[in-house]
Amino acid sequence: MSFVKGLQCKECGENYPADRSYICLNCFGPLEVIYDYDRLARALSPEVIGKRDRNLWRYKELLPVEGEPVAGLTSGYTPLIKAVRLAQELGVKNLYIKDDSANHPTYSYKDRVVSVALTRGRELGYEVFACASTGNLGNAVAAHCAKAGYASLIFIPHDIEQAKITGSLIFGPRIVALQGNYDDVNRLCSEIGDAYGWGFVNVNLRPYYTEGAKTMGFEIAEQLGWRLPDHMILPTAGGTLLPKVSKAFRELQTLGWVKGSYRIYTAQAEGCAPVVHALHRNSNQIEPEKPHTLAKSIAIGNPADGPYVLREVRNSNGWGETASDEEILEAIDLLARTEGIFTEPAGGTTLAVTRKLIQQGRIAPDETIVVGITGNGYNVLDTFTARVSLYTVLRPNLKIFREWYEAQVATPQATTAGTAG
Ligand SMILES: *Cc1c(COP(=O)(O)O)cnc(C)c1O
Ligand SMILES: [Zn+2]
Repeated sequence: MSFVKGLQCKECGENYPADRSYICLNCFGPLEVIYDYDRLARALSPEVIGKRDRNLWRYKELLPVEGEPVAGLTSGYTPLIKAVRLAQELGVKNLYIKDDSANHPTYSYKDRVVSVALTRGRELGYEVFACASTGNLGNAVAAHCAKAGYASLIFIPHDIEQAKITGSLIFGPRIVALQGNYDDVNRLCSEIGDAYGWGFVNVNLRPYYTEGAKTMGFEIAEQLGWRLPDHMILPTAGGTLLPKVSKAFRELQTLGWVKGSYRIYTAQAEGCAPVVHALHRNSNQIEPEKPHTLAKSIAIGNPADGPYVLREVRNSNGWGETASDEEILEAIDLLARTEGIFTEPAGGTTLAVTRKLIQQGRIAPDETIVVGITGNGYNVLDTFTARVSLYTVLRPNLKIFREWYEAQVATPQATTAGTAG
């Protein structure tokens, strides 16, 4: 029982069946899944959802699948954490972290999109799965394919974090590192997708894959007690997540399940910010950029869905800002010290931008703010190891310890770890 009406071109509105189509034959625009909301509203309610298992499939009727899920039964429904100590530091009152660094099994928001892409991909008859990845997507494709028993191929830029490559390799995919940046990888993957009959989750399965990102929005609304946040801040790479969280919020409004309206904000690293730069120029034209940032998981210089990020940000009266590498590292440290959450640079970018938006007065201190933390610092440990110098090695002897400790107490020093030096 599916509520999908079909696919529709986001540019010219042409309709397609929900099959292997992924690009408009008239205008080459991307295709979007559309649903029968009247029928959905009669079949489903927040009360019914509330009784279901705590994974992303609790919103199954709002996802583009027909049968039972083949992946993601332990993915999604990540914590929404009231961030009291962080709020104090930022001078606000109602701050929440949507913590996808705790997603299962690969600790980033990519577990959501891959769960839906594999399930729909199998329904469409794909047997081998692949992706173009900056690292986290590769981890998710490799892990979910291992669990479901499918072969996978991961295509990455050659210079991503070694920890992420290891994080994919453990699941036994074929990994190809290409001598180029993400945009070069993506271009080759489109050609391979056409030449071989593989399901590239973020290329030819993209209309279904992107729908998986809505589940982050559904969860936030449900976890706030079926309310929308006043302010939602998310990072942007290829531009999947932000428009789909926005779509989720609008779907819940259409269904009449939520109170309130929302503003949505995009965060990018200063060294790769084609969307934010277009926003600041007040332009619809996204100029591709060559990435130079330590936030590698969001280093996409030519974002496929960038225009839709701009559209959602503007329609909701939101905004966007950038963060420098230094600000990103500071924000990672801040989140760790105040909330005990270790995020990767994508999360640091989002938090650093949130802080800026508050300082600019765009976000009022007493309104509800949700910061999307999309990835885990443990996935990119090599970004930090060189920087951690603030610990002490001692011989295992009480007297030696005592001398060291007394000296410490006598000269208190910063306890920050990870971003010093
Ligand atoms: C992929 C990714 C994003 C953003 O992605 P979009 O391509 O814009 O959906 C953000 N954070 C992390 C950690 C990611 O892996
Ligand atoms: Zn079209």
